[in-house]
Amino acid sequence: MALFERDTNIYTDRDALREDYQPEELVGRSDELDTYQAALQPVINGEQPDNIFLYGKTGVGKTAASRYLLAHLREDAAQFDDIDLTVAMLNCDGLTSSYQVATRLVNEFRDETNQISTTGYPRASVYEMLWSEFEEAAGTILVVLDEVDHLEDDSILYQLPRARANGNLETAKIGIIGISNDFSFRDDLSPKVRSSLCEQEIHFPAYDANDLRQILSQRANVAFHDDVLADEVIPLCAAYGAKDAGDARQSLDLLMSAGDMAREAGTETVTADHVEAGRDELERGRIQEGIGGLTEHGHLVLYALVTLDLEGDTPVRSRDVRPRYTRFAELANRDPLVPRRMRDHLSELAMLGIISVTERNEGRRGGTYREYALDLDPALVLSALEETVESVGIHDSVMDFVDIDPREVVTDGENATLTEY
Ligand code: ADP
Ligand code: MG
Repeated sequence: MALFERDTNIYTDRDALREDYQPEELVGRSDELDTYQAALQPVINGEQPDNIFLYGKTGVGKTAASRYLLAHLREDAAQFDDIDLTVAMLNCDGLTSSYQVATRLVNEFRDETNQISTTGYPRASVYEMLWSEFEEAAGTILVVLDEVDHLEDDSILYQLPRARANGNLETAKIGIIGISNDFSFRDDLSPKVRSSLCEQEIHFPAYDANDLRQILSQRANVAFHDDVLADEVIPLCAAYGAKDAGDARQSLDLLMSAGDMAREAGTETVTADHVEAGRDELERGRIQEGIGGLTEHGHLVLYALVTLDLEGDTPVRSRDVRPRYTRFAELANRDPLVPRRMRDHLSELAMLGIISVTERNEGRRGGTYREYALDLDPALVLSALEETVESVGIHDSVMDFVDIDPREVVTDGENATLTEY
């Protein structure tokens, strides 16, 4: 018998729930698409295109709308002999400087044997190469800079729109489409850049539960077998999505997670229970990721706080976290940080939503102090702290939560005993 067998009960095409899947039609975005289409119309007229700036939170369809319209634009432009359209789409996530974007753009226009390295050229000469690539491509060139808010300098956002005015381009007509997840990015641009980049601004608002229901249904038709989803599944995923951030990506992730739960359980229908289980699983992943990104001392501070929480000692002041943290640091063979640095870690944990902070008044003397408590299920946090627990040892209070081989048991206080197993 084969070791691997195909799962075919739940999904017909699970990949249709993934972010990179491009739906044939977008639902519930007709106003934004109309505005966007009008902004691209000059391309078809053979005119110099306007620069367009798209903004809205993540998962509201900015990238999907751009891919959709640009695919149609390419197709329709091909009907006209006098239009020569080139679209270069670049995601700026992972690119921090204009320099990197410029080199990537040059390479987009060159074939594989002729690529330039992403370091080592003077900036001016990279721009020179870019202008000559544009001139060679000629016609209309649309440069789409997705997630442009990752850029730390706006040099390219200044250079590209002004390339013609500055005499760097003669024949090529260039249009920039900037896409940003960050509302404040636009306001932080220098006025010069803003006025040239944001000739047409299009805002993508968050989705409400109704929008999300339509988007999810459309995708579910492709992804799942008929009658696999119980009636409440899509409304529930949509309601959670609307409550969280109005983010279609998050709702699609939730639907996929629910589908996976049902598949793992070997059932034939996806139910509300699977949605709830899927939500827990995603939450666990997010916490794991958040905690995983902390430093070693962040982990030690958090471990100390978890044990205090389980002993019923939270909310707790920073100075009362300190003895336990110090001891844990020593057990892990690390030099404990000074109180102020330790407090910085508490603040960071609070910022990530892992712990909560309460500001309190110190009676008549009028000072304030802060108290900290764990804001998440301790079992969840401990599952993300496995390595720390291993290097410090298992504290009595967490015994029931960890399934690490309890060879080392730490008890607090002077005469800590390490129980042999
Ligand atoms: P953004 O770029 O704004 O972060 P995306 O365009 O990547 O968001 O959208 C996130 C996911 O949701 C993608 O899988 C996309 O296909 C889907 N999506 C977003 N809006 C719609 C819509 N109006 N109709 C269908 N699918 C959508
Ligand atoms: Mg996007």
